[in-house]
Amino acid sequence: MKSIDQHYIDGRFVASHGSEVIDLVSPTDRSVIGSVTLGDEEDARAAVRAARRAFKTYSISSLEERADYLQRLHDAIMARAPEHIAIRTLEYGGVARHNAFSIQGSAKVFLNMRKTLEEMPFRKRVGAAEVLLRPVGVAALITPWNSAIFMVCNKLAPALAAGCTVVVKPSESSALQIRLLVECIDAAGLPPGVVNVVNGRGDVVGDELTRHPEVAKVSFTGSTTVGKAVMRNAAETVKRVTLELGGKSAHIVLDDADADAAAAFALSAAFMNNGQACIAGTRLLVPEHRLAEMKAALLKASSQWKVGDPADDGSALGPLANARQFDRVQGYIRRGIEEGATLLLGGEGHPPGLEAGYFARPTIFVDVRNDMTIAREEIFGPVLSVIAYRTEDEAVEIANDSIYGLQGWISTGDPMRGKAIAERIEAGAVMVNRIFDLFDEAGVPAGGFKQSGIGREFGVYGLSEYLGTRAVFA
Ligand code: NDP
Repeated sequence: MKSIDQHYIDGRFVASHGSEVIDLVSPTDRSVIGSVTLGDEEDARAAVRAARRAFKTYSISSLEERADYLQRLHDAIMARAPEHIAIRTLEYGGVARHNAFSIQGSAKVFLNMRKTLEEMPFRKRVGAAEVLLRPVGVAALITPWNSAIFMVCNKLAPALAAGCTVVVKPSESSALQIRLLVECIDAAGLPPGVVNVVNGRGDVVGDELTRHPEVAKVSFTGSTTVGKAVMRNAAETVKRVTLELGGKSAHIVLDDADADAAAAFALSAAFMNNGQACIAGTRLLVPEHRLAEMKAALLKASSQWKVGDPADDGSALGPLANARQFDRVQGYIRRGIEEGATLLLGGEGHPPGLEAGYFARPTIFVDVRNDMTIAREEIFGPVLSVIAYRTEDEAVEIANDSIYGLQGWISTGDPMRGKAIAERIEAGAVMVNRIFDLFDEAGVPAGGFKQSGIGREFGVYGLSEYLGTRAVFA
């Protein structure tokens, strides 16, 4: 049991002004594993004051200095990688195969951004002017609970590289994971006030940060509903806004794809991170004449997706993060059945023997139409919807018939054909026959079209979100 009762403000762990305490509950067995004291508006304001003070000097720090901080942050996280992994399992229910990827990736974003710094033209002559890239000011970074550490790091890296100081408002249900991260940030030895972290509710601390006149920039990852509220608040003082929101990504299986390879790929894309991934490929578009073959291949591939205790190395799927999330996923499974989809695998309830935690059954629906709720709304759990198509054009049309545009997935025997289809998908990224390159490809942007968001993260694209231009005629 660990009580998190401090925020990190001005380079110190400080007592919370807000006094509400909530329990942290293990998703694996629902036992209470800790508690967190939630900050209030005053905690948020104190953090902004500290960030504002630090901005005066940090904003004019040299690029070498910032590169050094990025390196130190990477090293500090990696020095405690086993602890990060253990807490991710305990508090979030993360399984081994995703934990290592997530924690190493969290550290790697700092190294990637160090490299990006070298590529960014911070000074450039344009005609009679010299155009300078300047940090926009204090940035509020608001993050969700799925991949809690990664979400903070992938905002922290560009903000710090740009010369911004920050106030982080993580999800309060990740308090143990975030506390360890903050200890790493503290160990990296950045100047006081450059990074501040306040635990608290979104509608209290988050609301204060998105309205605060001294916050110049908000970077938010979370649901589309809350993203819209953030944007409305930010409009009042004309803040810069980056939004990384929800998704309902399509995975098109082209008619030349190997069924077994496509099925294995489809389940990895759909069930990664216990199905709680914004980029998950949750709509599987299959050529009508290959449906029977794909159903058999999916059932065969599902044997690799054993649900179980996330601490057990053999588990591929852990529990959902909390009771709300479990109920939400159950509600969608019920809705899918009511609207006429057919269960190929799974269904409502817990897998046998796993009733103690928030474990859902990996579920595959067939006979899904793209106008059904399960094909339109983000479920955020291990639920895959199979939709039949007749022609390639129809597949592209179905893929793009969504309010979201975050990610696309393609299975094909011919990568060049896949690439041609990928160029027609309205999404921020499309993966052809491959699961993930995000951390190895330092400069590649991520983000969404349509209601999946505004702006991009990673590389020069992500760094630009924290910079403004100043043209100097002299
Ligand atoms: P939420 O939108 O509920 O919350 C995200 C963060 O915003 C939390 O820290 C939350 O605090 C805070 N928040 C809530 N209300 C407000 C408010 N009024 N003002 C400011 N901040 C607020 O999302 P979840 O935490 O449930 O995360 C899941 C969602 O995140 C999914 O929809 C998923 O698609 C999306 N996501 C998107 C990604 C992307 O890159 N596009 C990546 C990962 C997830 P509190 O915890 O107190 O509610």
